[in-house]
Amino acid sequence: MREFFADIHIHIGRTRTGRAVKITGARSLTIDQILIEASENKGMGMIGVIDAQSPEVLEELVDGVREGRYTELDDGGLSFGQTVLLLGSELEINDDHSNGPIHVLAFMPTLQKMSEFSAWLSLHMKNVHLSSQRLYVDGRTLQHKVKELGGLFIPAHIFTPHKSLYGKGVKVSLTEVFDPDQIDAVELGLSCDTSMASQLSELNRYPFLTNSDAHSLGKIAREYTKIQMDHASFTEFALALQGKDGRKITGNYGLAPRLGKYYHTTCEKCGTRPEIEDEKKCHACGHTWWTKGVSERLKELADQESDNGKRPPYVHQLPLQFIPGIGAKTLQKLKNVFQTEMNILHQATENELKAVLPEKTANYIIKARKGEVGLIAGGGGVYGKVDMNHEST
Ligand SMILES: [Zn+2]
Ligand SMILES: [Zn+2]
Repeated sequence: MREFFADIHIHIGRTRTGRAVKITGARSLTIDQILIEASENKGMGMIGVIDAQSPEVLEELVDGVREGRYTELDDGGLSFGQTVLLLGSELEINDDHSNGPIHVLAFMPTLQKMSEFSAWLSLHMKNVHLSSQRLYVDGRTLQHKVKELGGLFIPAHIFTPHKSLYGKGVKVSLTEVFDPDQIDAVELGLSCDTSMASQLSELNRYPFLTNSDAHSLGKIAREYTKIQMDHASFTEFALALQGKDGRKITGNYGLAPRLGKYYHTTCEKCGTRPEIEDEKKCHACGHTWWTKGVSERLKELADQESDNGKRPPYVHQLPLQFIPGIGAKTLQKLKNVFQTEMNILHQATENELKAVLPEKTANYIIKARKGEVGLIAGGGGVYGKVDMNHEST
């Protein structure tokens, strides 16, 4: 059994012909570039793209297998160098039972199953070529289809104020929209961690995943899950989600929730926070609604004490780009020595870092590893910030 780093929520920006898949995603986010970045620069053992239902993307993948650039594994997924690619699709549900749009992820074991899924989706959505589109069926119907095809069903970034299960979609419980027996895991999202999410008893039965939701190559692996498996594949991953046969999730790595864009309730227009509870409109600019923070939403939903002991550890980490003194040049210098960002973040010793970096910058990495940096919380769509010398706010 080995441990693999997995980031299974990565958007595709463009196909090989330049056609847009995720319009707001970077043009450089093509399948080939994603695989190279994940395998050579980031050191990911398993990744997932979540726009694989797009017909041109599927075609590109089928051709890649035919041309021998990747191999389809017998137990699901495509292998490329050190990395296995899972085929996923992010979809938007907004049915009669939900209170607003909800994003979910569906993963299929094979290219064949993904193309069957894509054909079904195209009957129920306006544009199957694009990312994260609205599906005109209800949540349970989608779940049944995913299960019929042997897939995995995972609600995405479940607490973010826009387009998520608890941020928008349900008033109290996920059973308002979904069949609880057909959920395989939930994805936490950037402004949330295990100790926060484990305050909801209805989530006790589901494993937590941490993924990047990357819209550019650099952001791949800003969050990821550590998984113990025999090898990386769809079937092994499914076993790990069930905790079967020694397969399991052994850790979550993610941004400290305060660094996320939606930690505290904030006015999205001017960046101000409410002064009192239930403040109706922004006292600074008069904007008539607040973007609810994940920490405030959790206070409404929580029905138990968080119990970290029962869950794999959640390691707060700072992507190297957040660390003062590490620009593109320095990052390249570090990669020349340590190869991947995973090695820099987790493996390099203090002395090894000091041989490459100014002492001050090396110390920042060590401090960040130990969680000893101050954080200024984000909200209203703006990321939090690192304050290396001060206390958190
Ligand atoms: Zn989403
Ligand atoms: Zn305002």
